[in-house]
Amino acid sequence: MRNPHAGQPFTTSDDEIAAALADVSIPTLMLSLVHMSGDPTLIRGALKPAGLFLNEVQGYMSEDDKAAVRKIALEVIAGYRDRGCPEPEPVSAELLHEMMQWLVCEPVPDEYVPMLLEEMELDGRDARATRATSPAHDFPVVVIGCGESGLLAGIRLKEAGIPFTIVEKNGGVGGTWYQNTYPGARVDVGNHFYCYSFEPSDQWTHFFAEQPELQAYFQRVMDKHDIGRHVRWETEVVEAVWDDATATWTVHARDRDGEAVTLTARAVISAVGQLNRPHIPQIAGQHDFAGPAFHSSEWDHSVDLRGKRVAMIGAGASGFQIAPSIAPIVGQLTVFQRTAQWMFPNPNYHEQVGPGVRWALRHLPFYGRWYRFLLFWPGCDKGLDAARVDPEYPDQHKAVSEINEITRIMFTEWITSQIGDDPDLVAKVVPDYPATGKRTLQDNGSWLKTLTRPNVELVRTGIDRIERDAIVTADGVRHRADIIIYATGFHAGKLLWPMTIRGRNGEVLGERWGERPSAYLGITVPDFPNLFCMYGPGTNLASGGSLIFHSECQMRYITQCLELLIADRRRSLEPREDRTADWIERSQAEMRKMVWSQPSIKHSFYKNSHGEIYTLSPWRLVDYWGWTREPNPQDFVFR
Ligand code: NAP
Repeated sequence: MRNPHAGQPFTTSDDEIAAALADVSIPTLMLSLVHMSGDPTLIRGALKPAGLFLNEVQGYMSEDDKAAVRKIALEVIAGYRDRGCPEPEPVSAELLHEMMQWLVCEPVPDEYVPMLLEEMELDGRDARATRATSPAHDFPVVVIGCGESGLLAGIRLKEAGIPFTIVEKNGGVGGTWYQNTYPGARVDVGNHFYCYSFEPSDQWTHFFAEQPELQAYFQRVMDKHDIGRHVRWETEVVEAVWDDATATWTVHARDRDGEAVTLTARAVISAVGQLNRPHIPQIAGQHDFAGPAFHSSEWDHSVDLRGKRVAMIGAGASGFQIAPSIAPIVGQLTVFQRTAQWMFPNPNYHEQVGPGVRWALRHLPFYGRWYRFLLFWPGCDKGLDAARVDPEYPDQHKAVSEINEITRIMFTEWITSQIGDDPDLVAKVVPDYPATGKRTLQDNGSWLKTLTRPNVELVRTGIDRIERDAIVTADGVRHRADIIIYATGFHAGKLLWPMTIRGRNGEVLGERWGERPSAYLGITVPDFPNLFCMYGPGTNLASGGSLIFHSECQMRYITQCLELLIADRRRSLEPREDRTADWIERSQAEMRKMVWSQPSIKHSFYKNSHGEIYTLSPWRLVDYWGWTREPNPQDFVFR
């Protein structure tokens, strides 16, 4: 069988190939040429990228150099086509490492190579899939949630031959990407990386896709793997209860008609996400407001915003996308923002994927795989360096290290370069806390351009109360409003909430956790046997990578844990107390060294009310990948 990443054979004409090459990433193309021709000297000459910075996929090559590469490429690709597009010969490990370093213009340490190769699957082998070695028909599993991680859980369980039911509160697949339909909703991790490693797509129309396209991707993947028939839609889990005597979980849910549904499982996988329970702050008088008012993730599409006075409370990642999308149609938009956000330039943010790129992804051997690597690498642990506090660095309120200061200067220049020298606006939009201290936003200029529109006002003064037709700020100013949008985020710290999860002796997980949710590797919890979390405590990412990458690590680990139970007919597994305590202590110690913990950051959904952070990961991706590659039986208590 042909390697799925070797590209589909084609008979495209020379002229059409030449047209396609106008769009593509030239450095990525050159690596595909090496595969097609088997000639590594193509990347050992003068034609090469000069650097890599986030979404700069052309490696800063000059137009002349790019034209020279396109000329060579046309010849190589036409020859490959005329030979019938044979599957390329495998490339040696040394050459692959050379190709990696060439593409990103810097050393790629040896410890990263196995992880990157696995992520790229150049051998066409999905190494994160686990096949069952023992019959598992008497080991039913319930997965809670059918978003990105729940769907993945279903795919992996099916591959392993483990019976499962997914219970999903929504009416369709996608989680966040089903629920958030607000205008402008789009992902901010490049889509050719933000998709399952084993299910790349050559169909993305945007580099950072909008919500409908993402939801459609998950639907397509679900259909391909025939997971839909395992899902109970519009059914919400309210409680799960462990019984030591039978070593089973009883999962209580309510279906769309309010009818009780009960499922019995040997293991439960929570795949409920961290950011989907809307948080609406209590503001005096808000219930007296006469017009429509709704949360960003519960967008009321029946409300016509055209010509209306719209107040948007909150402007984090969601508000940042909503404002530019609705400002052109509303009469007046008033944005109430408590804390200014750091943002960094990404000119590709709203760009469409050209037909040439889609052609290359479909036909040029490993083009899509190398493009994935190109997007992955800049977010692969480098952000942690900029986020780490240098205890010797002075004035930590402004910056926490030299590299963090450089980042601050760069981001500040990006912001001020767009708004000229209006001192009032500069004071409002340049954050006063260290760069990357809260979730940094992607920007192509649309946010600040929106703020300078005549019908948009940014208000940084705190809200005192809401009246029938206005929001009144602490300075006594009444801001008239017909509609209120709460872009005020989620109950991020309340994991697995509002479900009640009862472990051994009836202990309630939410009560044990309080404001300090924790799990060994973010996955398993002592006294809650056979419970596995995906995107659990301490696994949210604030400095790079993608949650899909993390989910794939977690699900490989979980499937192998299930195998440990099934193969040896063990009743249950839970992490050892001492290992878990050690993990929490080390994670917290590490977290305190990171910029997100800085006390100068007053408001952040990363922090609990004590200023501690339990939801994020402070760890390098390469470490987490290594730790979750295979469960260590010594970490567990088996019964
Ligand atoms: P968020 O980042 O938590 O932002 C909430 C906003 O509401 C902030 O401006 C916050 O101010 C404000 N707010 C909250 N409580 C308030 C109060 N009591 N009074 C006044 N203002 C208040 O929520 P989000 O924008 O929905 O984003 C949440 C997360 O979802 C993101 O960080 C990201 O992980 C994900 N997301 C991703 C994308 C994407 O991929 N493009 C898009 C949307 C969301 P403070 O900053 O002062 O707290």
